[in-house]
Amino acid sequence: MPPRFVADCMLGRLAKWLRALGFDVLYHPFADDHEVVAWARERGAVVLTRDTGFPDPPDICIISIRDDHVEEQLGQLVREAALDLAEARPLTRCTVCNQVLVSAARDEVWDRVPPFVYLTQESYARCPDCGRVYWEGSHAFRMRERLARLSKSAEAARRRR
Ligand SMILES: [Zn+2]
Repeated sequence: MPPRFVADCMLGRLAKWLRALGFDVLYHPFADDHEVVAWARERGAVVLTRDTGFPDPPDICIISIRDDHVEEQLGQLVREAALDLAEARPLTRCTVCNQVLVSAARDEVWDRVPPFVYLTQESYARCPDCGRVYWEGSHAFRMRERLARLSKSAEAARRRR
C-alpha cells in the first residue's frame, strides 16, 4: 500500500502533483496545524509540512519539506517517506478533491469536454465528487514523461546512498 499523506496549507502544488500521480493526499488551503495533525491521526497518514515550527507529536510521522520545487519535493518523499514512484497511477485521482476517478463513456461527458477532445478520445474518467472530467491528453502525456524522468533520478539517488 502506498503511503497516504496530509499536506499543510503551504503545499497545495505538491498535493496536486501527488494526486495527479494517483496518491492519496488530504489538503485544505485553510487547515490549521491542529486539523492537519487530527486528519493524519485519523487516516494513519504522513504529514507533509513546509513549516519548520510544525508541532511534532510522537505518534505521527512528520516530513518537513525543504525545497520549493515540486520535483525536488517528490525526490525527498522518495528518500524519506517510502514513496515509490513505480506505484504511481496517473489519471486515477481527482487533483481538486482527492476522489478516486471512475471511468466514463464518451456520451456521458460530451458536454464537458472540448469538441476536438470528444472527437479524438475514446475513454474518459470522471470525478464522482466534483464531476471534473479527465482524459489522456497532451498534458497527461507530458506528466508521464516527467514522471519517468523523476523516477529515474530518484532511483539514481537511492542507489547513491
Ligand atoms: Zn473532484
